[in-house]
Amino acid sequence: MNIAERVAQIYREIPANVRLIAVTKQVDAQQIRQTYNQTKIRDFAENRLQSALEKKPVLQDLSDICWHFIGHLQSNKAKKVIQEFEWIHSVDNLALLQQLDKIALQNNLQRSICLQVKALSDPNKFGWTINQLQQEFAEIEKCQKSLSIRGLMTILPIGLSSEQKIAAFSTIRDLAKSLSASSTVTLDQLSMGMSGDYKEAVACSATMIRLGQAIYSL
Ligand SMILES: *Cc1c(COP(=O)(O)O)cnc(C)c1O
Repeated sequence: MNIAERVAQIYREIPANVRLIAVTKQVDAQQIRQTYNQTKIRDFAENRLQSALEKKPVLQDLSDICWHFIGHLQSNKAKKVIQEFEWIHSVDNLALLQQLDKIALQNNLQRSICLQVKALSDPNKFGWTINQLQQEFAEIEKCQKSLSIRGLMTILPIGLSSEQKIAAFSTIRDLAKSLSASSTVTLDQLSMGMSGDYKEAVACSATMIRLGQAIYSL
């Protein structure tokens, strides 16, 4: 199967309202252009700023691409990431969130972000634990001067059974609901699901899935 066929297959498997984001960290600008030309995907994600800075300039004519940042973000790169990406899915601590809101305001840029949260305790992964997120939410809520806090993002540890994936994604969905109900923030986006677990994620109401291997057969 080629890119167009694989993407068509994925669209048949997911509800029409789920946003399919092509993760292009392992492909070059030419393959991004091919994806753009041969599919209806307009959302593309990179996990490294440098990689995006290399690819985006040669794709400037594709002006309706929406770029998503999904990698761990260091504070010294925050400004550039705010300038280059409409969405940041991987905001994983309060200090970073506060910094991003300040930079977005200073640069007069409206940006959408997701809060990255760990569904299961996983020492190697970035993100708030569920407890930390709940405890800090009053401070998090204040960071909407120029940012729009749209939802939660999660990455599951590898090696889970299908049942465990469903349980973990459901926990994140329920957390978004309860935080929305008890605050002024509407977390209506769930960025969850990668090539190995997007079927479980959409079964648990994911609104954005981030796929690399499933599209590019890496
Ligand atoms: C690489 C990556 C993906 C895509 O993973 P695949 O297994 O290739 O689908 C999704 N989300 C994040 C944060 C990633 O770094």
